[in-house]
Amino acid sequence: MTTQRSATVARLFKGGARSGDVVRAGRLFRRGTALPCPSSVLWAGHGGAVPLRLLLAALLGLAVAAFAQQPSPAPPAPPQQNPANPPPPRPRPPRPRPRPPIATIADLLITGGTVVTMNPAQPILNDGALMVRGSVILEVGPREKLEGQYPDARRIDARGHIVLPGFINTHTHAPMALLRGLANDMTLEDWLTKAIFPAEARNVTEDFSTWGTRLAALEMIEGGTTTFVDMYYFEDAVAREAKAAGLRGVLGETVIDVPAPDSKSIGQSLAQIEEYLQRWQGDPLIRPAVAPHSPYTCSADTLRRAAALARRYHAPLLIHVAETKHEREESLAAKQLSPVAWLESIGFLGPDVLAAHCVWVDEADRKALAARGAGCAYNPSSNMMLASGVAPVPLLLAAGVRLGLGTDGPAGSNNDLDMMLEMNVGAKLQKVSQLDPRALSAAQMLEMATLGGARALHMEDQIGSLEAGKQADIILLRAGVSHGLPIYDLPAEIVYALNASDVDTVIVAGRVLMHDRRVLTLDKPSILAKAKEYGEKVRQSLAPATKP
Ligand SMILES: [Zn+2]
Repeated sequence: MTTQRSATVARLFKGGARSGDVVRAGRLFRRGTALPCPSSVLWAGHGGAVPLRLLLAALLGLAVAAFAQQPSPAPPAPPQQNPANPPPPRPRPPRPRPRPPIATIADLLITGGTVVTMNPAQPILNDGALMVRGSVILEVGPREKLEGQYPDARRIDARGHIVLPGFINTHTHAPMALLRGLANDMTLEDWLTKAIFPAEARNVTEDFSTWGTRLAALEMIEGGTTTFVDMYYFEDAVAREAKAAGLRGVLGETVIDVPAPDSKSIGQSLAQIEEYLQRWQGDPLIRPAVAPHSPYTCSADTLRRAAALARRYHAPLLIHVAETKHEREESLAAKQLSPVAWLESIGFLGPDVLAAHCVWVDEADRKALAARGAGCAYNPSSNMMLASGVAPVPLLLAAGVRLGLGTDGPAGSNNDLDMMLEMNVGAKLQKVSQLDPRALSAAQMLEMATLGGARALHMEDQIGSLEAGKQADIILLRAGVSHGLPIYDLPAEIVYALNASDVDTVIVAGRVLMHDRRVLTLDKPSILAKAKEYGEKVRQSLAPATKP
């Protein structure tokens, strides 16, 4: 630690920091603590045994023949306004959101694709179809049968596509999209002192969280994510923007034992969070959450108060746990307990907890997480980028821990929110670290990114697979691409060959958010322009600090 940094920390967080402590991404890290993921907080999850892997593996060859390679017919064009000839006297409504060409909340038949349901009872349907009514999947079955049953439903032609449940990103910090790539390939100390900390201190406002979420939502929709678990500041703005974009979110406002950009004390923070929980209770898309940052930046008292508040409102608890070796060692030295064991000792662990990372967890920790029904988020890109270590994924799965996949980031700990890339990297990291290509299969990885994430959130009765009665969170992937043919093994195709730019259509709760790669719920040009504007603003805000 440099004297300069300690002085800076002490000045900005007087009373909350000790000499040698570090502030990173607006949070304080005690001396000797390895700095964890750069943004704020959050989660993960899987679910017990992995029957789907075996079922999918057994069906590898079955589905391949199904891809009719002819492209889908173009969807009907949306109503266009002719800018050259606007209706003169008629006042235009204020910036109408583009309307989906296919359907919003109405009957919708997705027909003709290879449907990978992630439902063990009906894993893959060649030439299948899904009938959606309102926000819910009404029926999954053969194309011919459903087309006959629902002749009048509006249709999405899915021929030549793989139909999947949308991805569930179980850990991220969406507004940090505006800090993407600000500092890379640096030591954590330089990254902190020269970039992220000054940038957040000078730029994070409600407007920042608003535009950062819009940028992140655009990237997530374009990459096939339909649910994300987030943790940052001004989370009410994150919730508002996620809902406007049509995404499903489990969104936690951060609690930490130092002043934060949107609150100056724990009391103020918890009071604000209670209002936030009340405001979003019962929303069909947004599940408000409480996000105490970590066991080493929150006291036992803070964690107990945060848990009590969350449990009063049946809200999830999102937290970073056991991310780095130093975090574990410091906990053992100071508390004689591992981070997980300490959380258990203060009554924090439960089925409402989603613990991001769980890299440094021993057998007793894994058993405790499983026994309590807590979820974990595996964040392979972040763990590699920050050199945190490799999460013991096979052991977590074997212990029955509910394990999902997350991107973390998108600044500093991963410069993207790309779940398809995360699956690819996440499987390979397990293989290479264990020198065993069987360590984690493509089918397991695909399950973790969908149904596993739902289990980590205890939302597997609502999302994570394509089944009658579940929410219609559905994506279509283009299968006839040069980097994807031929297809022998569907899970391997999705995890190792296709990428985010192959996502063609995204539907959440029956609403079409993207079709034919056109995002229908966000004003893409204005978001991209604002991202550039913020980039310049952040750059300028850092200029005085970086002068020699
Ligand atoms: Zn994080």
